Amino acid sequence: MEHVHIEDVDEWMGPAALKQPLGRALGASDVAINYYELLPSESFAFGYHRHSDQEEIFIVLSGTVTFETDDGERVVEEGSAIRFEPGVFQQGVNEGTERVRALAIGAPQESGETEIRRDCPSCADRTPQSIEPGDDCLHTVCNVCETKTGNFT
Ligand SMILES: [Zn+2]
Repeated sequence: MEHVHIEDVDEWMGPAALKQPLGRALGASDVAINYYELLPSESFAFGYHRHSDQEEIFIVLSGTVTFETDDGERVVEEGSAIRFEPGVFQQGVNEGTERVRALAIGAPQESGETEIRRDCPSCADRTPQSIEPGDDCLHTVCNVCETKTGNFT
Protein backbone atom coordinates (compact mmCIF):
# COMPACT_ATOMS: atom_id res chain seq x y z
CA MET A 1 0.00 0.00 0.00
CA GLU A 2 1.16 3.51 -0.81
CA HIS A 3 -0.49 6.68 0.48
CA VAL A 4 0.45 10.23 -0.48
CA HIS A 5 -0.92 13.71 -0.04
CA ILE A 6 -1.18 15.38 -3.44
CA GLU A 7 0.32 18.59 -2.06
CA ASP A 8 3.51 16.67 -1.16
CA VAL A 9 4.06 15.29 -4.69
CA ASP A 10 6.86 16.90 -6.74
CA GLU A 11 5.86 19.40 -9.39
CA TRP A 12 6.88 18.81 -13.03
CA MET A 13 7.78 21.42 -15.63
CA GLY A 14 5.36 21.92 -18.48
CA PRO A 15 2.55 24.02 -19.91
CA ALA A 16 0.30 23.72 -16.81
CA ALA A 17 0.56 25.90 -13.68
CA LEU A 18 0.72 22.64 -11.75
CA LYS A 19 1.40 19.05 -12.84
CA GLN A 20 2.01 16.42 -10.19
CA PRO A 21 2.77 12.80 -11.16
CA LEU A 22 0.53 11.18 -8.61
CA GLY A 23 0.76 7.69 -10.09
CA ARG A 24 4.55 7.74 -9.98
CA ALA A 25 4.48 8.96 -6.36
CA LEU A 26 2.22 6.03 -5.50
CA GLY A 27 4.48 3.55 -7.31
CA ALA A 28 1.72 2.69 -9.79
CA SER A 29 2.95 -0.02 -12.18
CA ASP A 30 0.33 -0.08 -14.95
CA VAL A 31 -1.32 3.33 -15.04
CA ALA A 32 -0.21 6.97 -15.27
CA ILE A 33 -2.14 9.45 -13.09
CA ASN A 34 -1.36 13.15 -13.07
CA TYR A 35 -3.00 15.92 -11.07
CA TYR A 36 -3.23 19.23 -12.95
CA GLU A 37 -4.16 22.81 -12.30
CA LEU A 38 -4.51 25.13 -15.30
CA LEU A 39 -4.73 28.90 -15.18
CA PRO A 40 -6.77 30.60 -17.92
CA SER A 41 -5.21 29.94 -21.38
CA GLU A 42 -2.99 27.12 -20.08
CA SER A 43 -3.04 23.54 -21.42
CA PHE A 44 -2.40 20.03 -20.13
CA ALA A 45 -0.22 19.33 -23.15
CA PHE A 46 2.68 20.83 -25.09
CA GLY A 47 0.56 20.77 -28.23
CA TYR A 48 -2.06 18.96 -30.23
CA HIS A 49 -0.90 15.41 -29.73
CA ARG A 50 -1.61 11.71 -29.78
CA HIS A 51 -0.16 8.67 -28.04
CA SER A 52 0.16 5.55 -30.18
CA ASP A 53 -0.52 3.02 -27.44
CA GLN A 54 -2.22 4.83 -24.54
CA GLU A 55 -5.83 5.74 -23.82
CA GLU A 56 -6.29 8.94 -21.82
CA ILE A 57 -9.11 9.94 -19.49
CA PHE A 58 -9.50 13.45 -18.07
CA ILE A 59 -11.72 14.07 -15.04
CA VAL A 60 -12.52 17.75 -14.58
CA LEU A 61 -12.88 18.51 -10.86
CA SER A 62 -13.39 22.26 -11.24
CA GLY A 63 -13.48 24.79 -14.06
CA THR A 64 -14.09 24.00 -17.72
CA VAL A 65 -11.71 22.47 -20.28
CA THR A 66 -12.10 22.88 -24.03
CA PHE A 67 -10.60 20.01 -26.01
CA GLU A 68 -9.55 20.40 -29.61
CA THR A 69 -10.13 17.13 -31.47
CA ASP A 70 -10.27 16.02 -35.08
CA ASP A 71 -14.06 16.03 -34.62
CA GLY A 72 -14.10 19.68 -33.49
CA GLU A 73 -14.15 21.28 -30.06
CA ARG A 74 -15.55 19.50 -27.04
CA VAL A 75 -16.28 21.44 -23.85
CA VAL A 76 -15.85 19.37 -20.67
CA GLU A 77 -17.34 20.97 -17.58
CA GLU A 78 -16.74 20.53 -13.87
CA GLY A 79 -18.01 17.16 -12.71
CA SER A 80 -17.55 15.39 -16.03
CA ALA A 81 -14.94 13.27 -17.76
CA ILE A 82 -13.74 12.48 -21.27
CA ARG A 83 -11.84 9.56 -22.78
CA PHE A 84 -9.59 9.51 -25.83
CA GLU A 85 -8.67 6.18 -27.35
CA PRO A 86 -5.06 5.50 -28.40
CA GLY A 87 -3.99 7.19 -31.63
CA VAL A 88 -6.46 10.09 -31.45
CA PHE A 89 -5.21 13.69 -31.56
CA GLN A 90 -6.38 16.02 -28.78
CA GLN A 91 -5.39 18.99 -26.65
CA GLY A 92 -7.23 20.36 -23.61
CA VAL A 93 -7.04 24.10 -22.89
CA ASN A 94 -8.53 26.23 -20.13
CA GLU A 95 -10.44 28.76 -22.21
CA GLY A 96 -12.48 29.86 -19.20
CA THR A 97 -11.79 32.42 -16.50
CA GLU A 98 -11.60 30.01 -13.53
CA ARG A 99 -8.69 27.81 -12.51
CA VAL A 100 -9.09 24.23 -13.75
CA ARG A 101 -8.39 21.31 -11.42
CA ALA A 102 -8.30 17.92 -13.15
CA LEU A 103 -6.99 14.38 -13.03
CA ALA A 104 -5.53 12.72 -16.12
CA ILE A 105 -5.33 8.93 -16.28
CA GLY A 106 -3.34 7.13 -18.95
CA ALA A 107 -3.13 3.40 -19.54
CA PRO A 108 -0.94 1.58 -20.10
CA GLN A 109 1.61 3.68 -18.25
CA GLU A 110 3.98 3.81 -21.26
CA SER A 111 2.27 5.84 -23.95
CA GLY A 112 4.27 4.57 -26.93
CA GLU A 113 5.17 7.10 -29.60
CA THR A 114 3.81 10.59 -28.91
CA GLU A 115 3.33 12.92 -31.89
CA ILE A 116 3.05 16.63 -31.10
CA ARG A 117 1.91 19.39 -33.47
CA ARG A 118 2.18 23.12 -32.74
CA ASP A 119 2.02 26.36 -34.66
CA CYS A 120 5.48 27.32 -35.96
CA PRO A 121 5.83 31.05 -36.72
CA SER A 122 8.77 30.43 -39.08
CA CYS A 123 6.97 27.76 -41.10
CA ALA A 124 3.65 29.67 -40.78
CA ASP A 125 2.06 26.27 -40.29
CA ARG A 126 1.23 23.70 -37.65
CA THR A 127 4.20 21.34 -37.75
CA PRO A 128 5.43 18.18 -36.00
CA GLN A 129 7.48 19.19 -32.96
CA SER A 130 9.68 17.70 -30.27
CA ILE A 131 10.29 18.50 -26.61
CA GLU A 132 13.90 19.29 -25.70
CA PRO A 133 15.46 20.13 -22.34
CA GLY A 134 16.80 23.66 -21.77
CA ASP A 135 18.28 25.42 -18.74
CA ASP A 136 15.68 24.83 -16.02
CA CYS A 137 12.97 24.64 -18.68
CA LEU A 138 11.65 22.59 -21.55
CA HIS A 139 11.43 23.82 -25.14
CA THR A 140 9.22 22.76 -28.00
CA VAL A 141 11.15 22.71 -31.27
CA CYS A 142 9.85 22.56 -34.84
CA ASN A 143 11.01 19.34 -36.52
CA VAL A 144 10.95 21.07 -39.92
CA CYS A 145 12.98 24.26 -39.30
CA GLU A 146 14.31 23.78 -35.72
CA THR A 147 12.71 27.02 -34.47
CA LYS A 148 11.94 27.03 -30.73
CA THR A 149 8.20 27.54 -30.44
CA GLY A 150 7.70 27.37 -26.69
CA ASN A 151 9.48 27.70 -23.36
CA PHE A 152 7.98 25.89 -20.36
CA THR A 153 9.01 26.12 -16.72
ZN1 LIG B 1 9.13 25.49 -38.40
